[in-house]
Amino acid sequence: MKKTGNLFILSGPSGAGKTTLCSALLKRFPTLRYSVSYTTRNPRSGEQNGVAYYFIDEEEFKKGIETGRWAEWARVHGRFYGTSAEVIVNGLKEKSQILLDIDVQGTLQIIKRFPKSIPIFLMPPTMEALKVRLESRGTETEESVQERLINAKAEIARKGIYRHIVVNDHLERALDELSSIIEFYLRKEACRESAGA
Ligand code: ADP
Ligand code: 5GP
Repeated sequence: MKKTGNLFILSGPSGAGKTTLCSALLKRFPTLRYSVSYTTRNPRSGEQNGVAYYFIDEEEFKKGIETGRWAEWARVHGRFYGTSAEVIVNGLKEKSQILLDIDVQGTLQIIKRFPKSIPIFLMPPTMEALKVRLESRGTETEESVQERLINAKAEIARKGIYRHIVVNDHLERALDELSSIIEFYLRKEACRESAGA
């Protein structure tokens, strides 16, 4: 059997720790490739274009919807976010290990289009801890923190669509658990490859 690549999806409420854990995973697994999303939200202080996101305007984003530029897209916290179809399709053709950080709406679209993708949901240990993390990150206004906490409840209610659920209580423990999940699929692929060799 031929090597196919893997599409790992990490979702979870804003402030759960996705960005922190994605960057730790990219350091731990040099073969993982992060798919940089496109968004119409404003860059936070220190955010560079093309690193966490490509920042584009609404006109360009909406044109992308019409031309099929996005593998999935969604409106999250009032802004547009989307994944480049080209990056995913080419990445899988090249049998890459791809990591996406996208919301629940986007995950449903990716699962439909790429049924072998591996969706993982990151949970905060408590809603109180989530609030503290969002506030201590210092990137959100009080209004935006409240909006993200309300959205968090709706996102957590849909965690049943995910194949794995990881609680980000202690960073190192959550990183180890996520690493075990990724290693499992990497090994499975290595076995398939050697069986077909
Ligand atoms: P997300 O990308 O899911 O919105 P971040 O990775 O930006 O979340 O994390 C939100 C905040 O919480 C950051 O300030 C980060 O340093 C902190 N954080 C992440 N994981 C933990 C953890 N296990 N314990 C305490 N703080 C954490
Ligand atoms: P933030 O603005 O805090 O970085 O991200 C807000 C939310 O948007 C998070 O839930 C994150 O997973 C989601 N998100 C980031 N990129 C994408 C994307 O390309 N598509 C979708 N559907 N959601 C995304």
